[in-house]
Amino acid sequence: MITAKARAVDGPDKPFRVAEIKRRDLDLHDVLIEIKYAGICHSDIHTAHGEWGPVNYPLVPGHEIAGIVTDVGTEVSKYKVGDRVGVGCMVDSCGDCENCRKGEEQYCLKGNVPTYAGVDKYGEPTQGGYSTHIVVTEDFVVRIPDSIGFDAAAPLLCAGITTYSPLNHWGAGPGKKVAVVGMGGLGHMAVQIAHAMGAEVTVLSQTLKKKDDGLALGADHYYATSDPETFEKLAGTFDLMINTVSAKINLDAYLGLLNLDGTLVNVGAPAEPLSLNVFNLIGHRRSFAGSMIGGIRETQEMLDFCAEHNIAPKIEVISADQIDEAYERVLASDVKYRFVIDISTM
Ligand code: NAP
Ligand code: ZN
Repeated sequence: MITAKARAVDGPDKPFRVAEIKRRDLDLHDVLIEIKYAGICHSDIHTAHGEWGPVNYPLVPGHEIAGIVTDVGTEVSKYKVGDRVGVGCMVDSCGDCENCRKGEEQYCLKGNVPTYAGVDKYGEPTQGGYSTHIVVTEDFVVRIPDSIGFDAAAPLLCAGITTYSPLNHWGAGPGKKVAVVGMGGLGHMAVQIAHAMGAEVTVLSQTLKKKDDGLALGADHYYATSDPETFEKLAGTFDLMINTVSAKINLDAYLGLLNLDGTLVNVGAPAEPLSLNVFNLIGHRRSFAGSMIGGIRETQEMLDFCAEHNIAPKIEVISADQIDEAYERVLASDVKYRFVIDISTM
């Protein structure tokens, strides 16, 4: 067993505290990773606060992990000591079902094993990346291109892939009008990726406070959703909308912005159910869809795409003692645009 230093939370309203956790001895195909940086995703907050359902505490969140391989199991073939690697939202899956065989492990029919708040194949609870080390089977590890620093790489492992995958799946590209709803961690990645794919990109943010940043990241247009005129002006405009909002929104208002055959993809995951008026779909053959992270192969593709197009998240690096404060600021939409924990401060 390897002892890792970590930051854990003991309940929905509890602050983070110093913790020590055990990482398993390396199995044949396992790699040991010394974590350098871990991003803070809004999903960490939903989970830590118990919003998505009961959680077993103590909980160590973190599924945007970047670090270095420091040891490998005897049968590992893909990685060696010293490799720069990342781990995202899942650490295992059955590997055998139809979806796993297609490389869509996130949709494993037996359920993927989440990086934290899950149970691994040994029956042990999984604990995430707010820690100094993690042990992961090599098939769920990806390679970080040399041109991307560890700090910038971390958020790509969730915010990057969660936006890349639906943009890719629904064909964002030249001639396509894409709207990104919410300019937070996911949203500011969606803007950059959709722009690099060649789409015409519009940001729909609550206010115009982040307009300059949005345009600098590649958006062609930027509108405030607090202004009712936005919804009149943009009616019937978009081929594809990616909703990254972490709270409940008025779907009907946003569906009205889609054109014929347009699709609104929800990646935002508020705990409360969303409702819609089906006539907003029927009248224009529109679709309302969802998407969850991306498969391992696609995650590697996304990292290589970001390296090729010089895409990186805008980050604010914090120490391990600032996690509670960072959570408060994410909840207040006061993040530009991803907090990343410097694990050397553990
Ligand atoms: P984030 O950094 O907090 O960004 C969310 C953005 O939504 C905010 O910056 C804000 O943008 C907007 N927003 C927040 N509250 C709002 C409200 N009440 N009304 C309208 N807009 C609001 O969060 P994130 O890390 O990007 O995650 C976003 C959501 O995606 C979370 O629910 C998370 O759990 C989910 N998620 C899903 C997946 C998946 O696989 N599907 C993966 C990762 C995360 P503006 O200030 O620009 O309005
Ligand atoms: Zn996430």
